[in-house]
Amino acid sequence: MKETKSTCPYCGVGCGVIIRSEGDQITWVRGDPDHPANFGRLCTKGSTLHLTASAEVTLHTRLLHPMRRERRNERPVRVGWDAALDLAAENFQQVVREHGPDAVGFYISGQLLTEDYYVFNKLAKGLIGTNNVDTNSRLCMSSAVAGYKMTLGADAPPSCYDDVNHADCIFIVGSNTAYAHPVLFRRIEEAKAARPRMKVIFCDPRRTDTAELADLYLPVQPGTDVMLFHGLLHIMLWEGWTQPEYIARHTSGFEALKALVRDCTPERVAQTCGIAQEDLFTAAQWFATSPATLSLYCQGLNQSTSGTAKNAALINLHLATAQIGRPGAGPFSLTGQPNAMGGREVGGLANLLSAHRDLANPQHRAEVAALWGVPSVPEKPGKTAVEMFQAAADGEIKALWIACTNPAQSMPDQATVRRALERAEFVVVQEAFATTATCAYADLLLPATTWGEKDGTVTNSERRISRVRPAVGKPGETRHDWEIVVEFARRLEARGAPPPQPSPNGGGSKTLFPYPDAEAIWLEHRESTRGRDLDITGLDYALLDRAPQQWPFPAGATQGRTRLYEDGVFPTPDGKARFAAMQYQPLAEARESRYPFSLTTGRLRDQWHGMSRTGTLGRLFGHVPEPVVQMHPQDIARRLLKEGELVHVTSRRGSIVLPVQASNELGLSQAFIAMHWGSEFLGGISSTGERLAGVNALTTSACCPTSKQPELKHAAVKILKAELPWTLLAAAWLPPGDALAAREQLQSLMALFPFASCVPFSGNAPLEQAATQERSGLLFRAAGYEPPPDAVLQPLESLFGLAGSDTLRYADRRQGQRRLVRVRRDGADLLLQGLLLAGDTSAEAWLKSLLLQELPAQAYGRLLLAPGAKPPVALQPKGRQVCSCFAVEAPAIEAHLAGCDGSPQERLGSLQGKLRCGTNCGSCVPELKRMVRAVPALRQAA
Ligand code: SF4
Repeated sequence: MKETKSTCPYCGVGCGVIIRSEGDQITWVRGDPDHPANFGRLCTKGSTLHLTASAEVTLHTRLLHPMRRERRNERPVRVGWDAALDLAAENFQQVVREHGPDAVGFYISGQLLTEDYYVFNKLAKGLIGTNNVDTNSRLCMSSAVAGYKMTLGADAPPSCYDDVNHADCIFIVGSNTAYAHPVLFRRIEEAKAARPRMKVIFCDPRRTDTAELADLYLPVQPGTDVMLFHGLLHIMLWEGWTQPEYIARHTSGFEALKALVRDCTPERVAQTCGIAQEDLFTAAQWFATSPATLSLYCQGLNQSTSGTAKNAALINLHLATAQIGRPGAGPFSLTGQPNAMGGREVGGLANLLSAHRDLANPQHRAEVAALWGVPSVPEKPGKTAVEMFQAAADGEIKALWIACTNPAQSMPDQATVRRALERAEFVVVQEAFATTATCAYADLLLPATTWGEKDGTVTNSERRISRVRPAVGKPGETRHDWEIVVEFARRLEARGAPPPQPSPNGGGSKTLFPYPDAEAIWLEHRESTRGRDLDITGLDYALLDRAPQQWPFPAGATQGRTRLYEDGVFPTPDGKARFAAMQYQPLAEARESRYPFSLTTGRLRDQWHGMSRTGTLGRLFGHVPEPVVQMHPQDIARRLLKEGELVHVTSRRGSIVLPVQASNELGLSQAFIAMHWGSEFLGGISSTGERLAGVNALTTSACCPTSKQPELKHAAVKILKAELPWTLLAAAWLPPGDALAAREQLQSLMALFPFASCVPFSGNAPLEQAATQERSGLLFRAAGYEPPPDAVLQPLESLFGLAGSDTLRYADRRQGQRRLVRVRRDGADLLLQGLLLAGDTSAEAWLKSLLLQELPAQAYGRLLLAPGAKPPVALQPKGRQVCSCFAVEAPAIEAHLAGCDGSPQERLGSLQGKLRCGTNCGSCVPELKRMVRAVPALRQAA
């Protein structure tokens, strides 16, 4: 048994992990108590990482060999690495020769390591001669980059996590921190508990679990943040809460901003944002007059056509009130992905160059060309994410290389993205998982290593560089991402790409890519930072191996900088920060009579991005088991809908079908769909024969004009009842490998129904027993206008283990009814193992309860097969799992709370003492607090 320190591959908190492994198998993971991002804590996602690396998951979901498709829509066949890379080099070279270097594009990922990012950037900009290299960080952080550069002069978050311990006011805006950055939220909870006088303001259209900690909640209308920030500044100016001395000494451009916010009166702002004037006033007072105010913000600000303006307008507030450069004070952008920061550091975006240099700056281009040993870096700006896929859809980009990301799930306007993937002449997908939607479009699939296998570095939200280390060897024929790039680049060089020029790095070498290992790449990156704002010339792997470090860390330093701008000097030509006077602009799509709902998107607590990793574990579906669209209960009632009914959700770009669910988190005329539901889990076919493409079929590619980040957070939609009278439900317990394999095979069947969804589920084993004792299952739903032919239903029956002689059946073909149940004997009991209901699915609730809770079924006899039958005694439905670590469900929590008394804190303590919920990772604590409030105490109830 071996233990290896590494970093969690999910969010930008960047928690340290300790991986336990035996041979080539990862067996356990726990938080690293010495890592300054998490001090031993992990959230539900981080603490289940080892389960996503099990032998079954690797066998059934990983891409383990290079694969090639001769023709699209065919099954790919295995090829050797040499043949695969030769094919890639041949195709890319041909496209470049015939159409020029800008006819190729590289779309990479904030989940790559810094070393991977560096070589991709050098490959495109240094060797091939195109700036068409962009990343999914464009969908995530580019507005934060643009906002920082516009105001503070550099893309550098000035704060750190420890600031939550020093802040007197925390302003959380456009961020469901409780779900998106859970371990940081634990730190805020602790800070609030230690210093209850610390104010927390939470501002978001949805009243998410993050609101549980708030002293003041501002339920702003979607997209109105700029108006809110201008309104806050207006009040601060009127009340004399700004800091004129700081403004005069350390900033420029305040007069123009003052003139701009003059019209942003409290009346106007309150009306535009949909909040009370008193609340606006309170927020302004707390923000400006608290000794230290820290803002935490994320996609609610970034994923917007006003993304840069929102970021800049918030930073304006910090500059105007001198809430920056001190412990507990500053504008702190939380990065979504684990290495969005590292990608920015090496210039891995279409408009950036290494070490925070700008592509538009000729001197910067010359510096990078000299560092790389190439004649020049091309001047023409590269295509950003949305532009790249549009160019491919238009036939301008002919070869695409996609690495470690799933644009067929995550990009907005899926119709265009899928057209691009179909039209491109050659698509390479470099991936760890064979199950992503994008893999289906690849001509060439290159298997990459992933978490637990990789070696390199990542940088988290607070500028802290951590080591990522391999705990196990590379499975199958996988290679590290940087190795694949280097091998490909050397082939291009061998085919006549320009030889390196004399340079500090290129001199004497026959290749621009002379790297024997990840560290060699990192050392070249390190050199590129010399003298820059993120100078890390004082660091090396050995130092990082001892402890993660923040940048800047120049040569001679003994530690990195905890906070930036403490001296009031900013990295601008005059050393002053710049106020940005940017007008409030409405959303790209306003609600209107044809599209009367504001659709927002966001994260679930236990899932990550497109779920290629978290979606392999049934236990991570315990909290939110299936895709739904949420609406306000009054909107559901007004439209004569019932919870659970299927609805068409339609935007100007596409339509999907989903069950509707009531949620009090939303305001009227708002709807919410989690960002994770792609076509891998939520499918179907439209009336015109197109495959439904998940939530991003609906979202818009309208971008912020400065950052080019699309407005993934908002689309105007209509929601209408789906008239799909024939319904089907199939669910079964399956051996773990079979469940994963069945899910893959169901993908093609999902395309045969107007609506279909497919999700895993699991038994209720506590986390510590999950690896050995957890049972796994699969649930499939479909709906249509009429019953499908037997040829469609029979494969379904087989996949759910319902084709054998141990299955009881009832079928009425004329009526389109079918009912199958499989039982197993367990002592004196008969336990349901699988079921399929087709036609009449009204018995779903109680049959599903029997199956999921594994209750004795013998007493139900013939009712198991009778359409529309009701059980003789009502069965308690399986509850939503609130605590994932100890598998505690909502009904048990509610029952305990109903029987206990005391203050909310005492009742929470009683709950935790009795059921253990919320005592491990703590991700469910905000929800537990909400439940404590919702369930009356024993004495109150009496
Ligand atoms: Fe991973 Fe959770 Fe930490 Fe984010 S908060 S890095 S997902 S363990």
